Amino acid sequence: MAKPPTEREILPLLQELIRARTVNPPGNEVRAAEVVEAYLEERGVGVRILEPEEDRANLYAEVGSGKTLVFNGHLDVVPPGRGWRRDPFEPTVEGGRVYGRGATDMKGGVAAAVAAFASLAEEPPGRIKLLLTADEERGSRLGMGWIVEHMPELAKGDFAIVLEPMGSYPSPKFIAVAEKGVVIAHIHVYGRSAHSSVPQLGENAIMRALRLSERLLRERPKGGWRPGVREALSYVLAAGERRRLGLRGALAMYRALRDVTVNVAKINGGEKTNLVPDHCEVVVSYRIFPGQGPEDVEDCIRRAMRREGVRGDVVVTTYIEGSRLRGGEEWVDALSETVKSVYGTAPIKILSVASSDARFFRNRLGVPAVQFGPGESHLAHAPNEYVHLRDVVSASRVLVEFAEKTLRA
Ligand SMILES: [Zn+2]
Repeated sequence: MAKPPTEREILPLLQELIRARTVNPPGNEVRAAEVVEAYLEERGVGVRILEPEEDRANLYAEVGSGKTLVFNGHLDVVPPGRGWRRDPFEPTVEGGRVYGRGATDMKGGVAAAVAAFASLAEEPPGRIKLLLTADEERGSRLGMGWIVEHMPELAKGDFAIVLEPMGSYPSPKFIAVAEKGVVIAHIHVYGRSAHSSVPQLGENAIMRALRLSERLLRERPKGGWRPGVREALSYVLAAGERRRLGLRGALAMYRALRDVTVNVAKINGGEKTNLVPDHCEVVVSYRIFPGQGPEDVEDCIRRAMRREGVRGDVVVTTYIEGSRLRGGEEWVDALSETVKSVYGTAPIKILSVASSDARFFRNRLGVPAVQFGPGESHLAHAPNEYVHLRDVVSASRVLVEFAEKTLRA
């Protein structure tokens, strides 16, 4: 049986990964890929680094044969932004927490996967694949999108774990079995120009856009797959979450789990102070459920326009599909049990309101996949991001024990 990785093995690896500055854009994932390559080669495991573009790297390694488990993580991080009390790329350890950009999203997860993979490689209980990808933070075109397009066999397996940060440490931990998708729509609202001195002669496009925006909050796409009331409640009422979110946050989270959310993100209109504006553009971001698509959003927008008597055009500029687990329930049950035995509390199965590379496994490759990894979901993309080192060590141990339990025939 493989030995679970220790803190002594994981901490230096995690620190090196954080130091490898893979801010996307531009990405430079090759820096983190080389850290992983050195770590694994030192332990006698070869890797392939695949560069769809210069400095943009995906890393692949495989050991063993038989039933196949895929560990997936992304190597890029979002820009640090403002508000850091320390250097985001020089990891500091304080009170058991490792601080740095990507500590939670998701170099902690990558470190857990790499260390687990190295342990399992010594005497593989089945086939284990390590697939670390580029470009997740900006749509995955050069990462999972590229893999699916050019080398889909690398990502195929019986079950995949995407190591996104799920929950908090020590609890609650989450296993995401589904995730929301994104539709961004640009709505061009038209009016009729007139002189500001007699505005009633015109039709003010900005005022119409505002009316329409209010209406959009009520006209939301129906259908799709969403968590039930009980599941959503168990999530927001989980002890750690309730404390962290507060009442208002818990309510907002509950709504995000149960409803399509609509955010009027940008508005742009008007040219001159002496004119009634005849054009206004509204950019709206929808988070949709698995099974819904851009056409559902467009239908809603057009219906809202009709009801408000608004003329205009709708252009969808971004569509990221939602996804949900199909099949593989026995893997999820085994993972839940392992998480419970390692962390001490049972994880909660949820829908993730953020999208991840899991959608490629679920929708494009037909591989049952979940998101589970160390980290504090609420710290992803935030300043002073950190991860509990014990969380990373525990997650790595979960991967090892889960592989031993499910792969060994
Ligand atoms: Zn991530």
